[in-house]
Amino acid sequence: MAVSRSLKESIARAPSLPGVYSFLNKDGTVLYIGKAKNLINRLRGHLSNTGDARHELLLDKSVSVEWTITRTEVEALVLEAELIRIRKPPLNVRLRTSGRYPYLEITLDETYPRLQISRERSNPKERPRFGPYPDSRNLRKLVEFLLDISPLRRCSGKEPQSKSRSCLLGQMGRCPAPCTGGISSGEYGANVQEILRILRGDWEWARKRLEQMMLNASQSTDYEEAGRLRDLLSRLGSFGWPAPAGIRDRINRDIAAVKENWGIIMRVRGGRFTCIVRMPFDGRWKLAPLSERLSVLLKSYYSQTGDIPREIIVHEKPDDDSSLVEWLSSRRIGPVRITVPKRGGNHELLELAQINLDQFLFRLSWKYPSAGKEKVEATLEGLADIFKLEGPPGWIVCIDASTIQGSWPVAAIVSFRDGYPDKSGYRRFSMPEEISRNDPAMIASAVKRYLAALEDEYPDVFLIDGGITQLRAALTAAGMLWAERICFVSIAKKEELLLCGTSEREIRLPMDSTPLTFLRSIRDEAHRFVLHYHQQKRSRGSLRSVLDDIPGIGSATRIRLLTHFGSADRIAVATIEEIMEIPGIGRSRAIQINDYFGRQKKSR
Ligand code: SF4
Repeated sequence: MAVSRSLKESIARAPSLPGVYSFLNKDGTVLYIGKAKNLINRLRGHLSNTGDARHELLLDKSVSVEWTITRTEVEALVLEAELIRIRKPPLNVRLRTSGRYPYLEITLDETYPRLQISRERSNPKERPRFGPYPDSRNLRKLVEFLLDISPLRRCSGKEPQSKSRSCLLGQMGRCPAPCTGGISSGEYGANVQEILRILRGDWEWARKRLEQMMLNASQSTDYEEAGRLRDLLSRLGSFGWPAPAGIRDRINRDIAAVKENWGIIMRVRGGRFTCIVRMPFDGRWKLAPLSERLSVLLKSYYSQTGDIPREIIVHEKPDDDSSLVEWLSSRRIGPVRITVPKRGGNHELLELAQINLDQFLFRLSWKYPSAGKEKVEATLEGLADIFKLEGPPGWIVCIDASTIQGSWPVAAIVSFRDGYPDKSGYRRFSMPEEISRNDPAMIASAVKRYLAALEDEYPDVFLIDGGITQLRAALTAAGMLWAERICFVSIAKKEELLLCGTSEREIRLPMDSTPLTFLRSIRDEAHRFVLHYHQQKRSRGSLRSVLDDIPGIGSATRIRLLTHFGSADRIAVATIEEIMEIPGIGRSRAIQINDYFGRQKKSR
């Protein structure tokens, strides 16, 4: 490999100090940025590191190197990340994050701090930043929940303007009204600290506090307040889901994994999963090893958020491991460790993150079929062996049923042709109320109706979300004729045990096997589809009755609300400003609607 003379001369002048270096081509364009504890050693390493496609390209195109000396390696790490973000060198792998997801900030630089959703970077010392939150709807619910527990002002601007009378939000009891002196600065500061405590992961404290407050309210016969607190307690469970049983402590952890051009971070706070964030890589990610992609994921992710946990679990050591730990510990102002678990609860968490990413990549390949065609074909061949079929299953359908305490019972079937979703084959079934609390009966009813509507063709595999009871119900409903033609398979949650056909043959696939990931992805798609149908039915039902009850809201406004928000749940969590975005709805009517849902919540 011929390396230009000017490049060799340029490298020979580098100092033995920590810093950041940039390789430049003959036009002065930056091709690659790196950091080093010792610049000359690192750059000489580049010269000898041949045989790797990216290095060959780098040495072939570069004519000189520039560097900036830093005091420490950690300083170099921060500068390197910033320069890569700004200059976007083509041979560096980057994470595509900027402006993608919102964060939650507390404006501690204001006398009466606010909780605000933001996409802009700000000073982390003045405004502690949590997130990112990929689901903005859930984020709005979280904001409402936090403000219901520990109210802060809701108006924008650096300071609330001092008044003799609070705005409507204050009058409705939705703001402690610091503008009128309705709350002392000490009490207000305590509310801020409570919100920070919950956002830092102390959900258990929030639960205990709500329980105590509810008890106090009912002992003093303030049943309205007790009802409001009970509602808050029930909402608390909706922020996150339990971590696996192997995790018994309440240490805050993030699990980070990388596969192909995607990275994932799963947040565990106070013993619960609270969020999953997936981010794609830009640039020539294929040329970068996994350890480098992982390092880029961690640097980019944690440079944006102040929510840094004590432990970060990864599947292999990232590049710059020790300087990353030092940098993260300085940002957290406390120790941080990066671990690669081989067994135990942390390993279980890691497996979950990897499975989640695998399933996500499958779903992605369904959107862009050419991307994962070979993988899908190999998976179908694998399934043919596992289920003892004559050939790869060209047509797979999957059924799931849904109901909430017997209301709005529905079932749905999704269809996959040659491994890809075939939306024209998706089917939805409304279920009679009398079997609404009987999952196997709902499965049986939908299977029967589905098979009766088939014409010449029939699926190769009929996947059923459930265990042995659901499988038996489906087989009984299908009858011997269909049971001989179609391979009925149930897939049970948690254990992911497969039961196949009338013999109920047990199949246990490794948790990380591609065929199991594929079947789970199909099951999740059925789950998503049935849930969507269920929510539609529920929203239509509840929307009709709920909106009818709001005084002064006519049919035209009802239709506008329905078209804009799509469901009663969404209207219930919408802010006044969001309701005002609908043409024809002014502030007073928006407040009226918002107030109505606020009272509904309290009375629940
Ligand atoms: S009552 Fe209204 S104006 Fe006063 S602090 Fe609260 S939101 Fe701002």
